[in-house]
Amino acid sequence: MKKIVENTSKYLAMSKEENKEFLDNLYSLMKKLEADVVDYQGLKILSAPPLCPDCRSNHIIKNGLQNGMQNYRCKDCGRQFRVTTGTFVYRLQKKEKMLDYIRCMVAGKSLRACAKEVGISLPTSFAWRHKILAALQSFEDNINFFGVVEMDELLMDYSEKGRIYKNAEELKRARKQKPKKVAVLAATDRAGNLLFKKFDGKKLSSEQIEQFLKAKMPKDGVMCSSNKKAFKKVGRNVIKHKEIVTNHRQKRGIYSLSTVKKKASEFTNWIYFKFRGVATKYLQNYIMWYVVMGKYLTGKTVSNTGRMLNLASSDRWAWYRYRELVNKTYVDFNIY
Ligand SMILES: [Zn+2]
Repeated sequence: MKKIVENTSKYLAMSKEENKEFLDNLYSLMKKLEADVVDYQGLKILSAPPLCPDCRSNHIIKNGLQNGMQNYRCKDCGRQFRVTTGTFVYRLQKKEKMLDYIRCMVAGKSLRACAKEVGISLPTSFAWRHKILAALQSFEDNINFFGVVEMDELLMDYSEKGRIYKNAEELKRARKQKPKKVAVLAATDRAGNLLFKKFDGKKLSSEQIEQFLKAKMPKDGVMCSSNKKAFKKVGRNVIKHKEIVTNHRQKRGIYSLSTVKKKASEFTNWIYFKFRGVATKYLQNYIMWYVVMGKYLTGKTVSNTGRMLNLASSDRWAWYRYRELVNKTYVDFNIY
């Protein structure tokens, strides 16, 4: 494995500003060193703890090298694992192409264009995109709301894009059974925090909204929402201040839903026009891509590449999450 930084204690002691500069230059640095994403994982494990993939214990010891890669062993359950186990680059073939794949992805290129530019197949391009997006899911925990929070229900088209039907009967049955819409909760505050969350079901329930509020908002915040029943039913024990905004009555201009509506329509345009819709089972992956883009990827393509690599590398469960999602239903890799 290649060393990306010479002095690790200096690397670990970087200030926020130095860290930002390091990530902005990471792509060029890795190109110069001919380092790949697995090498970067070797550096990243110093700051993201190497938890045991089986029992999640942190009683981990180094256990020699295997094919030049650091091995670890769990002192609690004995499981042996590598620096890449569970991460988005676990069992990755053609790892030397992943860094440029990330560059193409953050530049907004299509699956096909990414595949062509880095020299991989279309199904691999799809798999890589979703391995990266699976790694972004844990960033949902980093998003919290304060003060006045505008919330709305967003009904998005249900889609099984990419699904292959075994026969005409299966297609007929699927058409009959499939729901038309899926419910997404959209929330934004006046500090610019933004999150969408897909919930199970055709529309939001007050329990789902309460669960979201409990996790994301202080009790003394103000929930500002439409007059849909589910929002009206949210309990005062969860949130003290509720402002229900109707079309006719906007309370002296303080409470409105215009920001959340604007952000929601920007998001749905991105999904429907850029991707021409996405399969519902992958919707939360795309949601976090959108949210992370707005929060962390605000620079030029080259600096965004370093930032995206760093974000994706900090998650140690991405591969498992990716597998679970892929196996979830019948949607296949056959898209476009
Ligand atoms: Zn263990």
